[in-house]
Amino acid sequence: MTQRRQRNLEKLTKAVTHIRLIEANPGKLAALDELAPVYLALCQQYVTLFCTDEHPDKFHAPVFVTPLSERWHRVVIQQAAGIAQSWRTNRANAYQGYLDDLLDYHEQQADGTLDAQTKEPTWKEWDVPALRQICIQANTNVVALEPSQDSTFDYWLKISTLEFRKQLLVPVKLADYHRQTVKGKTINTSVTLNKRDTGWWLTLSYDEVVMVQTPLGAPVVGIDVGIANFVTTSTGKHYGTFHGKLRERQKRDRGKRRRKAKLRKCLEKKGGKTLPSTTSRSGQRLSRHVRQEINRAVNQCFQEHQGYQLAYEHLSVATMKHKVRAMNSYMRASNLGHIPKQIAWNAAKRGVQATSVKSAYSSQECHVCHYVDRKNRPNQHTFCCRVCGHQVHADLNAATNIAQRVGDTELIACTDKKAIKALLMRRHDA
Ligand SMILES: [Zn+2]
Repeated sequence: MTQRRQRNLEKLTKAVTHIRLIEANPGKLAALDELAPVYLALCQQYVTLFCTDEHPDKFHAPVFVTPLSERWHRVVIQQAAGIAQSWRTNRANAYQGYLDDLLDYHEQQADGTLDAQTKEPTWKEWDVPALRQICIQANTNVVALEPSQDSTFDYWLKISTLEFRKQLLVPVKLADYHRQTVKGKTINTSVTLNKRDTGWWLTLSYDEVVMVQTPLGAPVVGIDVGIANFVTTSTGKHYGTFHGKLRERQKRDRGKRRRKAKLRKCLEKKGGKTLPSTTSRSGQRLSRHVRQEINRAVNQCFQEHQGYQLAYEHLSVATMKHKVRAMNSYMRASNLGHIPKQIAWNAAKRGVQATSVKSAYSSQECHVCHYVDRKNRPNQHTFCCRVCGHQVHADLNAATNIAQRVGDTELIACTDKKAIKALLMRRHDA
C-alpha cells in the first residue's frame, strides 16, 4: 500500500453530501425507520464475526437469521466486511506502532538515553467496534436512484422495505449548489443513507478520472512533515508552521479549557445542574484553522514544484506520536496526519505522481553516509552526522532521505523497523 505507483489514471470518488430526505407527508419514511434497527443489528453481528472468528469477506455466505430480504442481507454483509477490514488494518497498524515503540524503548535503555519518566510501552487489546449511528451503504439492488421526469424533484429513491416486494418511493430534491456540482456527471448507483436526530440524509457520489501527467523520470522532490515546518522539501524550502500565531492560539485555548474544567468541578460540588461543557468550541475552531494552514502550505508547495514527482512519508501511528511527543504535544496527531492526506489528495487532483515511502529512521539517517543514530540530532533543527560530520538542517536531511527512498526496492522489502535499520547500517558499512 505504501509503495503504490500508478502510472496513468487516478480515479477520484467525490461525495455529494447533506441531501435531506423529504418527508412529504407524516409517516412517509416509517418503513425506512422500521428497517433501520434491523439493519443495524444484523450489521453488528457480521462486524463482530469478521473482527473475531472470520476473515472479512464481502461475499461471505449468510449465516444469521433476519427478517431482511436476501438482497438486503448481501448489502449488510458487504458493509460489515468493509468496517471490519478497516478496523483490522487500524488495529494491526497500532500494534506495529506498539512494537516499534517497544523497540525504541529497549534501544534507548541499551544506549543509556532513556528518560527516567518514560514508561515501558504496553499493549491494550482493542474492542470490536460497536455500531451506534445508522448508516446504510446501499447498492442498486435495494435502493435505486432514478432521475425524475417531473421538474419538481431531481430524483426518486426506490427503497426496498421489510415487506415483501413493497417499495418506498421517496422524492429527492437537490440544492442549487448540489445541482451545479453534479451537472454533466454520472451519479454512482450506490448511495448512503444516514439517520440522525434531524431525520434521514442521503449521500450521492460520482467518479472523476484524472490522468497522471508527470513525465516518467521527472526529478523527485522529497517532502518531510513536521510541526516547526509543516512541509520541508529536499529542494530546501519550508512551507507553513505551527509556531507563531497558531501556537499562541493553542495556548490561549488550553488556558480556557482548564478554567472551564475548574469551574465545572466547582459547580459539581455545589450540585449545580447546568455545567459548562469541557469540549471547547474554540479548540475545534483551532483545529480547523490548523488544517486550513496545512492546506495552504501544501498548495503552495505544489505550485512551486511543477514538473517534479513527489515523495512523502507514509506516517505511521508511531511516527506521528514520536513527532508530536518531540514537540511537547503542541499539536494533536490527527492534525499532523492531515498533511500526508492533503499531499495525496492534491497529487491525485492535479495528476501529479506522488509516492509515499517508509519513514522509519528518515530523520536519524545521514543522507551522505547512511549512518543511523539518534545522536545524529543534537537538537530539533540540526542534523550532524557523528561519523562523517555532515551538517545540515534536520528537516532538509529527512526530506532528502525521503526523496532517495522512491524505487528503493531493498527498503520496500523490509517488513519492520529493525530490518530497515539493519539495511541502512549495512549500506553505511559498505
Ligand atoms: Zn554521515
